[in-house]
Amino acid sequence: MIAVSLPSTTPEPAEVPVLSRHWSEPESWTLRSYLRQNGYQGLKSALRLSPDEVIEQVKASGLRGRGGAGFPVGTKWSFIPQGPRPGGADTPHYLVVNADESEPGTCKDMPLMLASPHTLIEGVIIAAYAIRAHHAFIYVRGEVAGVIRRLRTAVDEAYSAGLIGRDIFGSGFGMDLVVHAGAGAYICGEETALLDSLEGRRGQPRLRPPFPAVAGLYASPTVVNNVESIASVPSIMRNGSDWFREFGTEKSPGFTMYSLSGHVARPGQYEAPLGITLRELLDLAGGVRAGHQLKFWTPGGSSTPMFTAEHLDVPLDYEGVGGAGSMLGTKAIQIFDETVCVVRAVLRWTEFYAHESCGKCTPCREGTYWMVQMMRRLEAGEGTEDDLTTLTEITDSVVGKSFCALGDASGAPITSSLAHFRDEYLAHFPHDDHPGGCPFDPSKA
Ligand code: NAD
Ligand code: SF4
Repeated sequence: MIAVSLPSTTPEPAEVPVLSRHWSEPESWTLRSYLRQNGYQGLKSALRLSPDEVIEQVKASGLRGRGGAGFPVGTKWSFIPQGPRPGGADTPHYLVVNADESEPGTCKDMPLMLASPHTLIEGVIIAAYAIRAHHAFIYVRGEVAGVIRRLRTAVDEAYSAGLIGRDIFGSGFGMDLVVHAGAGAYICGEETALLDSLEGRRGQPRLRPPFPAVAGLYASPTVVNNVESIASVPSIMRNGSDWFREFGTEKSPGFTMYSLSGHVARPGQYEAPLGITLRELLDLAGGVRAGHQLKFWTPGGSSTPMFTAEHLDVPLDYEGVGGAGSMLGTKAIQIFDETVCVVRAVLRWTEFYAHESCGKCTPCREGTYWMVQMMRRLEAGEGTEDDLTTLTEITDSVVGKSFCALGDASGAPITSSLAHFRDEYLAHFPHDDHPGGCPFDPSKA
């Protein structure tokens, strides 16, 4: 057992990295190491305030949800109704951390939980205190057995040190935390499908409203937040909301994790302020692989419309990515150079959405199936211009007409690739000096 006595600390400089500052230290995942790095100081500060004051501080920071949608975190917490339920009995409140990270290209939450699980646990305790929840869950995708083990070990350490359990830091506040392993379905990252899965049912989205803040886990008021959102909270409680606002832009304040993958010299996680551009991130990551040029990229995984080299200088923020017509999403930046066939890449993503469609609503269940059939035909060089029209019509009948965000997301790669690379689709058709099929040599990609 580790005795936790926390010395007072000096204010931290407003510079990145914050979340990943200690990731490379020996055994950074242990409580002993975390306590050496100002660990649990944010919790100590939070418990000196009332729950409502904690919510106000998070609201003032402008922290926006890092799971993809960018919804203001403090505002979401403030939706949880307070006070006794009509009729007398207290309504339980729940906190659920969405650690079902599955968006193609997204790989920021898993390294965070591996390298610094106590940052997340500290954020969970603060958030639970703020929304007056005494039970919290971390729902982790089932395939990542190593992450689940590490989280459970860290939770055990926190219990042994009295950081979770009854009367935390003598505040009178107590809570329990459970790490729950999912069963490996992309749709269980959708917050209401996640809640169904956590309750032991097949994970399928629920109709919203009511939003989880009103009727979530076991029909009780529930906050569902992404791992990185919750892990950002301890630093805000340690250093204040003005400190947090020194990073990023006015409407998208703070620092965040960008996951760079694909044809980039040094792929990996890059912590940087919101509003940074891809050009600046590529400078940090050594640029596009040597001898090649950027062709297209996703700002936030495959669910966000793709960009091209024309968009190197758009600010990566929650305002439609600098108003350039995409979404920041999960900040999964997948880089593709000129060796990649965009039609083949879009086919792969479309197959992913069709496979992961939960089948609950007809537009998505049927539409994603037909999108794949059309994309396979086009990629094989058996399509015609009429097929491009049909593909667009099918996509239009799914996007905006489906039950949840998966249906909308499935259309993003098709629509944006047709906008930027229609000629490349046409180049797959048979013509004078081309028998039809992919004009790219996959061995060069
Ligand atoms: P959303 O904008 O509908 O909701 C965002 C959050 O705000 C939710 O928690 C929701 O409950 C809350 N909210 C919104 N309006 C509310 C209201 N009026 N009252 C109370 N609460 C309210 O977005 P979404 O459908 O939950 O998520 C879509 C996002 O998920 C996409 O942007 C995508 O980038 C992301 N995504 C992430 C992953 C991943 O692996 N992290 C995977 C797929 C998709
Ligand atoms: Fe299921 Fe797709 Fe409908 Fe979402 S849009 S409920 S994933 S079928």
